[in-house]
Amino acid sequence: MSNSANRPGRIEEISSPANPRIKSIKGLMLKKNRDRENVFLAEGQKLVTDALEKGWTIRTLLHSRRLVEDDSQRERIQSLSAKVRARGGDILITNDKLLTSITRRDNPQSVVAVIERKLVDVSNLSFEGNDCWLALDRVRDPGNLGTIIRTADALGAKGVFLVGDTTDPFALEAVRATMGSLFHVQLVRQSEAQFIEFAKNFQGQGGKVVGTHLKGAVDHREVDYASGPLVLLMGNEQQGLTDELAEACDSVVLIAMDGAADSLNLAVATGIVLFEARQHLLTLEGRDH
Ligand code: SAM
Repeated sequence: MSNSANRPGRIEEISSPANPRIKSIKGLMLKKNRDRENVFLAEGQKLVTDALEKGWTIRTLLHSRRLVEDDSQRERIQSLSAKVRARGGDILITNDKLLTSITRRDNPQSVVAVIERKLVDVSNLSFEGNDCWLALDRVRDPGNLGTIIRTADALGAKGVFLVGDTTDPFALEAVRATMGSLFHVQLVRQSEAQFIEFAKNFQGQGGKVVGTHLKGAVDHREVDYASGPLVLLMGNEQQGLTDELAEACDSVVLIAMDGAADSLNLAVATGIVLFEARQHLLTLEGRDH
């Protein structure tokens, strides 16, 4: 599936589900195949455009023939295809039925891309000023993870640490839930021990790690989030934070609740604490209405 960026990508028309390239692309629904190929699937023109703009490598762009036959779509898809080809990606022109069989969606997207994964090594990062990061302890649900990545992007976080056995951000369900934000934030994968080691260094250089926990003793509105770089640490959906991670935090906060619910949904809790931490930096300026 690999390609060289030295030559423009090839264009191929495929309509048979038995075509080996289509079979291999369908296989990317499985994590073991994504790991082996170091790629993942994303659907829709917006996501592919975001990926290109942010410099992600698109190995293959699949689109329905219908798009080139439609006067209102032709120019956009041709321009997208040209950009992908110029960077060495191949174009597979196919049909809606085949695209649906790849992404298993009732209402298929007419564009699907095979994109190279990107994870960042923490040693290449620097943390300064108001930089804010999220860290997620063993998050299980791909929809939660995608929603959290989208929220991190929306509220200006730099990226997300995926700690321990956190689910794959490159699973199609997670990618869908990010709505393109996957391409705008940096992702770091670490074991729990690696994250604790990182946290010590980060704190030693003036950073603050704030955990969220139902056992938290501090009201989340009482913390000073603006005193330097920040990591907000969120716990697993069923078990919350491990004791080791909770101990690695400067403070462990509780979001005050009323009513009968035991806890908030993880993605909702992330939105609340992240908004609290970032609100002094958020303005309506520069937004289109
Ligand atoms: N049964 C789990 C427990 O006892 O921790 C519930 C976990 S909760 C569904 C998932 C995560 O969302 C928590 O680990 C925490 O990070 C965050 N969270 C949810 N509600 C919260 C609250 N009221 N205060 C602080 N964090 C909360």
